[in-house]
This record gives sequence, C-alpha cells and structure tokens, in this order.
Amino acid sequence: MEEHVSRRRWPLVVLTSSPFHGHMTPTLQLATALHAKGFPIAIAHSNLNPPNPSNHPSDFTFLPLSDNNLSTIEKYASFTDFISALNQNCKASFKEHLTRLIMSQGNKSIVVIFDNVMHFARIVAVDMNIPAIVFRSTSAAYFPAFLARLQIRQQGRFLEEDFAMQEIVPNYHPLRYKDLPFSTSPVEEWKQLVSNFSQQAHPSAIIWNTIKFLEHESLTQIHNHLQVPVFAIGPLHKIKPSSYVSSHQVDTSCITWLDKQPPKSVVYISFGSLATMDAKVLTEMAWGLAKSNQRFLWALRPGLVCGLEWLELLPEGFVGETRERGLIVKWAPQKDVLAHFAVGGFWSHCGWNSCLESISSGVVMICQPFSVDQGVNARYMSYVWKIGLELEQVEREEIRRMIKRVMVDEEGEEMRVRVNGMKEMVKEAVGNSGSSQESLEGLVNFILSR
Ligand code: UDP
Repeated sequence: MEEHVSRRRWPLVVLTSSPFHGHMTPTLQLATALHAKGFPIAIAHSNLNPPNPSNHPSDFTFLPLSDNNLSTIEKYASFTDFISALNQNCKASFKEHLTRLIMSQGNKSIVVIFDNVMHFARIVAVDMNIPAIVFRSTSAAYFPAFLARLQIRQQGRFLEEDFAMQEIVPNYHPLRYKDLPFSTSPVEEWKQLVSNFSQQAHPSAIIWNTIKFLEHESLTQIHNHLQVPVFAIGPLHKIKPSSYVSSHQVDTSCITWLDKQPPKSVVYISFGSLATMDAKVLTEMAWGLAKSNQRFLWALRPGLVCGLEWLELLPEGFVGETRERGLIVKWAPQKDVLAHFAVGGFWSHCGWNSCLESISSGVVMICQPFSVDQGVNARYMSYVWKIGLELEQVEREEIRRMIKRVMVDEEGEEMRVRVNGMKEMVKEAVGNSGSSQESLEGLVNFILSR
C-alpha cells in the first residue's frame, strides 16, 4: 500500500506470538508484511521468550500477556501440558488487552491473527465478536497427517503397537505410519487439538506459511475439509526479509570461516530450537561426521542433549580429529549460512522453517526428523520432491554413507539440480504477481472486508 493512505482507517491487526522460536519468527515476519501493506500492528506475547521491540518498526505496539510465570517447556510433563498452561495462563490478560482496545476504537476495527498453539486468542476474539484468523507455521501436509493420526486413536489403536511402520497409510499416500506425528495422548486430547483449528472452532480463515506449487494438494484438502479461505503466503522470510528476531546469541564468525571454504563443500548441521536427543545419538552423529571426511559447520545448541552444557558430551578425540575441517557454534545465522556458496548440504531435523529456508536457498538435505510435523516434512523432502535423503538409522556407518551420497555422489548432484529448480519457483512465487504475493493481497482484502 502506498504510504500516503492513512493507517488510521485500517483495522488494527493483533497477532499473538508464541514462545517457540520456530513459530515466533514467521509470526513477526507476517506482522512486518502486513505492516508494509498499511495495517497498524499489535503483538500480544507471553513473557517467556518475548520478542524484542527494538527489532521492529517503532509503531508496532507490544502487548505483554501476564502469563502467571509460565515456565520453560522442559518443566512440564509433556508438550501438551505446556500448551494447556500457555492457554490457561494467558487468556485473561489477552481479554483485558482486547477490552481496552475495543473501548478505544470499537470491535469493528480489530482483527486477531492467532498462532495455532495459542487458541485462547480465538476463544476470546470470537466472544467479543472480533474476526479471528489462524496462522499455521507448519507444513500444510501436516494437517492430513494429523487427521490420519486422530482416526487411528479414535479406533482405539496405537501407532507404535498395531501397525507396520513402513507401510503406506491407506488414503494418505505418500505418508507411511512412521511419518505420522507420534504421541500417546488420549483420544480426547487429540480431538481437542483438531478442533482447535477445525470448522467448529470458527477460524474466519487460515494463513499458511507455505507455497502453492509445493503443497497444492494438501492446501486443497484443507480447504475442502474446513470450508474457509486458505492463504498460502510463504515463505515469509522471502516475502518480507527482516532482521533476526532470535533470542539466541547469533555467532556470525562462522560466515568468515565459510568464506574460506571451497564452493558446495560444507555440510551444515542444525536441529532447530527445540529438538533433544540422547548422548548416544550425538556420539553416532559425531563419528559418522568424522568418518565422512567432509567439511562441516555444526550449530550445536546447548541443551540439545539433556544436561549438556555444550561440547563436553562430544566423544573424546572428535574435536581434535576434525579441527582442520569443522567448526562448531552454538547458534548460527541459518538463513545466511544456507545462502552461502560454500554450503552443499543441510543435515536437519526438518522443522518447517528449516525446510523452507533450505529450498529457498537451493540446498539439499539429510533428513533426521524427531517429532510434530518433521516426519511428514522429511517424507516430502525425500520421497515426493526428491531433494533430500532420509536418515532412517542413526548409526555412524550409515551416516558416513549418507553424507557421501549427498555431498559427493551423482545422486546428490541430481537432487541439487531439482532443488535449484524449486529455488527459482520460490522466487517466482514471492515476486510480483507470484502466487504468494497474490495470496497476501487476498488476505489484505479479506481483512479489509471484515
Ligand atoms: N535457526 C537459526 N540458527 C540455528 C538454528 C536454527 O537461525 O543455529 C533458525 C532457523 O533458521 C529457523 C528456526 O531457527 O528459522 C528453526 O525453526 P524450525 O521450524 O526449522 O525448527 P524448530 O526450532 O521449530 O524445531
């Protein structure tokens, strides 16, 4: 939108930002994109991992939610317990903020966009007659996988006990049982999770951080299932590049190190902001990497192994043996790393942001999924789009073979050609008249028509 159009006539968009890094980043990118279109923006956030206002336009309003001292996720028995506490603790405070905003500008001039894990915002908004749009930062393909998983639980069966994990789930090709989200949560909890973003929960629309050409089929399934407008406006980091919003200390020295490495010679390794593993897995990874003889940059987040301060759980001799060709940092500037000429492959947990960033930079993946949508994403990266290989067995010799296939063999080169083609398609999608830009325009008009 042109700057001369007065922002006061546009509704205030109140976005909820969740404490998870992988959710918060795209939410803030979405806020920046809508702000550039002309909307005034308010960000409601928990006090756990709050966004830093100084990284954002000065006219963003920040609405801290009294979250009753919400603890970090590790303090809860399960992910679901943490989400319940987040929703219970923040609801009253969000309602107070909205009440105050309505008193100053009326409910016709407010629209809420809520992160799907912060469904308290939808309940409050709908109660106050304010349109509530859900924002999803997972892959769209996760949605059908989630439904498949619910069906299995409703039949009283357990994924882990009752199925051959390598078999395709009937009616859910290409997903195998092993790709579905793992959880032993009771059926009622699954139903609640589904209803949080289903039709009964009345989202006015869904915004998805994905791209039409990539997930057309899943997006159509979602539209048919929920019967509300679906806006695929990703990848948001390309729609509105913005400064890093990380609460982690970013170690940029790795870029200087990468500058000195030959083109496409370095494997970048990162498992995102939440995944955890046991020490044995870390040991196998380290020795597989050492045996591969390839250069590497490892973003080894403290806390990746429970109780790990940092490097002390790496096997003895590993750092000395690989010092000449490897660098380990705590937190890397991932988007810059993936865009660097020296990076030839990305060994990843397949979080959706990491997948989008890898595809946008034309980097092939070694996929080692852990939880949530990562199994689904890994399946698409490896089996459907054929731009990655899935590591099925975390064992040093298998890892050595996998790194060689991706970094050295013809197979890796063929995947690289494919992913570079996709990188060009991403550029088109986010360019003028591209599908993601058109969806963003559609979203703007949708909000204005409320
Ligand atoms: N990231 C980063 N540096 C790191 C590790 C991760 O900047 O060393 C960023 C990465 O670019 C991505 C996000 O953290 O935007 C991780 O999100 P993703 O969805 O891949 O995984 P999650 O953390 O949600 O499991």
